[in-house]
Amino acid sequence: MSALSLDDSIQWVSGVGPRRAISLARCGIQTVRDFLYFPPRRYLDRSDIKLIGDLKVGEEVTVEGDIISVNSRKSSRNTLITDIVVYDGTGMIIGRWFNQEWVKKQFEKGSHLFLSGKVDYYRGFQIINPDYEFLTEEEKELIHTGRIIPLYPLSKGLGQRFMRKTISNILNEVLNKLEDPMPQGIIKKHNLIPLREALHSLHFPMNKEFIKRAKKRLAFDELLYLQLFLTLRKAKRRKHKGKSFNVESTLEKKFLSSLSFKLTNSQKKVISEIKRDMQSPYPMNRLLQGDVGSGKTVIAIAAMLIAVNNGFHSVLMAPTEVLAYQHFFVISEYLSSLSVPFWLLVGGINPLEKKEMLSLIHKKRGIIVGTHALLEENVKIPDLGLVIIDEQHRFGVTQRAKIQRKGREVETLVMTATPIPRTLALSVYGELDVSTIDEMPPGRITPVSKWVRKEEKRKDVYNWVHKEVRRKGVKAYIVLPLIEESDKMDLHSIEKEAEILKNSFFSDLKVGVLHGRMARAEKEEIMNGFRGQQFDILITTTVIEVGIDIPRANVMVVENADRFGLADLHQLRGRIGRAGSKSYFIMVSLEENITNNAKDRLSTLEKISDGFKLAEVDLRLRGPGEFFGTRQHGFPDFRFFDPLKDRSMIGRVRNAVSEIILNGWEDRFNDRIRDIRKGSEFIDVG
Ligand code: ADP
Ligand code: MG
Repeated sequence: MSALSLDDSIQWVSGVGPRRAISLARCGIQTVRDFLYFPPRRYLDRSDIKLIGDLKVGEEVTVEGDIISVNSRKSSRNTLITDIVVYDGTGMIIGRWFNQEWVKKQFEKGSHLFLSGKVDYYRGFQIINPDYEFLTEEEKELIHTGRIIPLYPLSKGLGQRFMRKTISNILNEVLNKLEDPMPQGIIKKHNLIPLREALHSLHFPMNKEFIKRAKKRLAFDELLYLQLFLTLRKAKRRKHKGKSFNVESTLEKKFLSSLSFKLTNSQKKVISEIKRDMQSPYPMNRLLQGDVGSGKTVIAIAAMLIAVNNGFHSVLMAPTEVLAYQHFFVISEYLSSLSVPFWLLVGGINPLEKKEMLSLIHKKRGIIVGTHALLEENVKIPDLGLVIIDEQHRFGVTQRAKIQRKGREVETLVMTATPIPRTLALSVYGELDVSTIDEMPPGRITPVSKWVRKEEKRKDVYNWVHKEVRRKGVKAYIVLPLIEESDKMDLHSIEKEAEILKNSFFSDLKVGVLHGRMARAEKEEIMNGFRGQQFDILITTTVIEVGIDIPRANVMVVENADRFGLADLHQLRGRIGRAGSKSYFIMVSLEENITNNAKDRLSTLEKISDGFKLAEVDLRLRGPGEFFGTRQHGFPDFRFFDPLKDRSMIGRVRNAVSEIILNGWEDRFNDRIRDIRKGSEFIDVG
């Protein structure tokens, strides 16, 4: 066989072959390189091996003993439960799996094994979904002389011994050919270990310290490659000339002087950053972060007017129709004294109306507000100059790319109210410039937030809402979450629930009901009714979630608040208290029914109102994997780099990237950058 190389398919490694290659692919291993960088799920180490008699609940342990029984049964709910009981002379422990048919066949009464995982207690010690390992006499010898053995995540058809054998073959064949692209100076400066050593220690570490150092090197590399890739791409884009706008705009000046308030310093700073981008010959690619209610809309309008003044269209894209409509409404108020044309283009619009609108769009230049309906092929926007995307994490990346393709070299501004800590934003949005509004308009009063934990308090809540509305003339939202907007059962239940509330607590008040499956016109009518005199109370699903701005709405009750994430609840809360008077955000969720994590979220919201601080808590509660899921932020999956634990690495990696570029060393890294580029559609932010 010819020499193995890193990009070879895994099936060519001796002992693998086509069938096992399929099983490995299920774990994400397709090439030799993939396996080299495939981290074990845990390591088996003599020092972790505990006597069953000494176990404590909650510990991560490994025990070693004999299987004294194997048993599979169906529970009353038709779950397949497979149990093994392991005895080591000091006690017994159960290993348990749910709904895994293939597991039972792996075990035989009387055999000797190692079992690893987190100790639980339920009528005795148990480990759910344990890792297990049968070792040969020889291997046991190794363990007991202090060697550490890697345990990999498995899929059907793979065993630990096969995994070890395979990676060992790979290391033997390719490791000595592997070049370390990292310049010696950077390795020294950041106290890293050489790449070969890191990859070897990842799989076969001498001791625990080696695991740590290996992971540190690999985390550093992972972030470095991403940042290097983004930085290079940004530099490349800079070569494309964009438009150079004249930012001395009479429309913008008129607009700002028509406002009944003064911009905050933060808003001023951000507008000048945006102007600088629009004026420069390179296309703007900027992220605007600002908490809910910090005044992003005004900034968006100012920027759009500059583009219009220069003879271009501006587009404002919202993630939902209700939001687009809301923006449209707000813009029409703001622009009432200016003669700038603006249009609303959403999905539900009738074809005739749409045709007419499109023909106007071809004649005049103005502001186009819409949803993804703007992305349809037949929507052609001439002279598109600026695209603003609101609440970016709700748009898929491909959608963002699509709208940008509507105009060459358009200026792009992405706005988000789900901020992430600044250092992180800088590193992960690498090629986006980041502007942050870190100041609220004056006079804003933080809503009083309260978690109502008990069923018997619910009626007190509604009686109190009734009183507030009657006595103070405020408006109130009641939010009833749907699991899925398309869920018929739930739709039925919201209508029923709304009916009950209407008849019991609010029989003498004007109540509107709004949900996602209503026709657009109907939604508009209800929103307008709530904005005006027609309704005091709006019972709604999450369609109002973000962006809605109704000044006298000062009370919001959220039922089943545990069904929402921290950020979503914070968005909801941002909908109230905009008139500068005291407001109340009430989350109803019965304590006995919800997870600890949900309890943490709700009590956090009671205490913290700053969106940036909440984002950090959110990150901690959810863990980086989920927080930075591609859905949320267009983030890549990190395998080694942990944005929380490895925070301090971010600055050092940026440093290293600058040093690499300054010295023209980037070509050394081409190999893996090519890989990132292939998979980069999803980090194509902006
Ligand atoms: P965001 O989009 O960031 O959530 P908005 O732009 O909707 O915030 O602004 C929230 C409210 O604050 C709006 O009613 C807006 O008119 C008002 N507002 C914006 N900027 C200021 C300011 N500098 N001073 C006072 N009120 C402001
Ligand atoms: Mg907004």
